Amino acid sequence: MDTTTIYKDLDERYFMPAFSREMAIVRGKGAKVWDAGGREYIDCVAGIAVCSTGHCHPAVVKAICDQAHELIHCSNLYYVPHQGDLAKKLVEITGMHKAFFSNSGAEAIDGTLKLARVRTGKKKFVAFTNGFHGRTVGSLAVTHKPAIREPFEPLGVQCTFVEYGDPNGLERAVDDDTAGVLVEPIQGEAGVIIPPIGFLERIREVCDNSGALMIADEVQTGMGRTGKWLAIQHTEVVPDIITLAKGIASGFPMGALLARDGLEFKKGEHGSTFAGGPLACAASLATIGVIEKILPDISRKGERFKTGLAKYNPRVRGLMIGISVGEKCPEVQKKCAEQGVLVNCAADGNLRLVPPLVISDKEIDRVVGVIDGALGQVVL
Ligand code: PLP
Repeated sequence: MDTTTIYKDLDERYFMPAFSREMAIVRGKGAKVWDAGGREYIDCVAGIAVCSTGHCHPAVVKAICDQAHELIHCSNLYYVPHQGDLAKKLVEITGMHKAFFSNSGAEAIDGTLKLARVRTGKKKFVAFTNGFHGRTVGSLAVTHKPAIREPFEPLGVQCTFVEYGDPNGLERAVDDDTAGVLVEPIQGEAGVIIPPIGFLERIREVCDNSGALMIADEVQTGMGRTGKWLAIQHTEVVPDIITLAKGIASGFPMGALLARDGLEFKKGEHGSTFAGGPLACAASLATIGVIEKILPDISRKGERFKTGLAKYNPRVRGLMIGISVGEKCPEVQKKCAEQGVLVNCAADGNLRLVPPLVISDKEIDRVVGVIDGALGQVVL
């Protein structure tokens, strides 16, 4: 049996079949990964926008290893090494007042829903069509896609979904009992959907008028992905709460919520055994150190993709790239993999590229060539 078959066999026998997958990725370096058969790929999936500094960046590996030799875990019953430094850094990056850590994006959203309810005294939420905020009971309630949400209802959080980009629908949906409006500044799982100009500003106004909190879910768009630390920083809008995860620690599981002055958990209102642990915080601080250096170049790299793929009308914001392909998207994905490039299909036949932020110009050109070839064969 080859190595991939061994993975497949064990998976089929012992793992609940919630994912569909065919390949085993066993090694990574920079923007490249290798499968169990030793084949090399340029990775434009990057753990779905997670491996921001590339695979196994030496600074991140060192930070995790050094910390592992000192202390792996201690509990939030004590001050945790690196936690305060990381909170300070995230506060500076986001312009928020204070941070709270989680282990994932969905958990950051759950914490946000709690914070919004407890500080506003209001109950309901508004979110947007095709928006994705996670799969825990709380975050699923504000995630739009009926096929993944409805089988698990009732979820205990009342949420109204408004068409993404529709300011009038938003005004109708928000009322005196709305605790928060959740928005992805660019929708990631929907396929890199950029809202119309002025929409995020309108959300801010509606929230100001009603007393609802504006919650920017930057789990996918944050940490430099779009060429700024946050996607919302491409506008003048300042939200009340920001959620982060994915690229925050280069693949070490971690999430965070950051909130403006006046919005914080009081003693005993929230907690977590693992969240903000020493290893995660060390990995995140090292990640931020790397991103600080490469951030000025990310938009230029995005433009290189945009120019190379111009005939397919890509939606590009930094290194977050979406192309409408349609029902043949999985075929394109497969052809790209055959040519040594990993991409994935988000919702509605949208090809999504979220490569490591360290991807080189040479790698970008190779990816563009492969995608062009695949799209040319399958779609044009
Ligand atoms: N929010 C957004 C915008 C996301 O894209 C995701 C995951 O794709 C989540 C929340 C949930 O994050 P996690 O999978 O870490 O729970």
